[in-house]
Amino acid sequence: MFQEGDWILIRYGEKRYLRKLQPKASINVKKDVLKFSEVIGKPSGVRIGNFEVYKPTLEEIIVLGFERQTQIIYPKDSFYIAFKLGLDKSKRVLEFGTGSGALCAVLSQLAGEVYTYEAVERFYKTATKNFKKFGLGDNVRFHREDFMEAQVEEGFFDAGFVDVREPVPYIGKLHLTLKDGAPVGFLLPTTNQVIDLLKALEGRFGGVEVLEILTRHYKTVPERFRPEDTMVGHTAYLLFCRKLKS
Ligand code: SAM
Repeated sequence: MFQEGDWILIRYGEKRYLRKLQPKASINVKKDVLKFSEVIGKPSGVRIGNFEVYKPTLEEIIVLGFERQTQIIYPKDSFYIAFKLGLDKSKRVLEFGTGSGALCAVLSQLAGEVYTYEAVERFYKTATKNFKKFGLGDNVRFHREDFMEAQVEEGFFDAGFVDVREPVPYIGKLHLTLKDGAPVGFLLPTTNQVIDLLKALEGRFGGVEVLEILTRHYKTVPERFRPEDTMVGHTAYLLFCRKLKS
C-alpha cells in the first residue's frame, strides 16, 4: 500500500508523471485533479478518476526522475548493455564515466558490484544525488576519480563499460583490469569514433560486434493501431567485444 513519502508514477492518458507522495500535494491535468491524500493507503495500480497510480519501475525513475547534467544512456540501450555484459550477482563490473548515473542504475540491478569512476566533481555529485533520492544502488562504489589514475588490480573486473568521449587512450588499462575473456562494451555517438576504436582493439579484444538499437513506438488505440508519427533516429552506436588473453 502506498505510504507518505513513496515515489509514485501517475498516468493520465499517455502522459506520465513521477511524484513524491506528500499528503497535501496534488496534480492538475487538464480539468482533472488528483489529491495525493486519496492515494495514501491504496495499492499500486489504483485508478482514481482519470488517473492511474503505480509504483514506478527503474525505467520510469531514470527517464522521469533522474537529474541530468550529462547526456545519459537511455533504457533502450542500457537494458541491452547490461544483458550483453553477462552480468549476474556474482559479477563485478567496471564503468566509466559515471555521468548522471543512468547506466549505473541499470548495471547495479543485475551485477553483484559496480565500480564506477567519474572525473568531474559536479557529475559525480549529480549521480550520487540521483541514487540517494531514489534509494538505489547499495552495491555501487562511486569513485570521484579519472579512471586513468585509479589504482585497480590486474584482472579485477568480470565485465566493463566505457562511455567517454575518447575511449582509445584507455584501452591498455582497460585490458589490464579485466579478467581474461571478460565482455566489455562502449557507447559511441559517431562513426569516426567507432572506426578509431576498432583499430585500437585489434589484437587485444576479440568477438567484436557493433550495433545500434532503434525503437518504434505505437499508438495504442485499438481502432487506429499504427506507429507513432515520429521516432528517435539515432542515439549512439554500441560496440561489444571480449578481452583476449595477453
Ligand atoms: N553513461 C552515463 C549515464 O548514463 O548517465 C553518462 C556518461 S557521460 C556521457 C560521460 C562522462 O564521462 C562525463 O561525465 C565525463 O566527465 C566522464 N569522463 C570522461 N573521461 C573520464 C575518465 N577518464 N574517467 C572518469 N570519467 C570520465
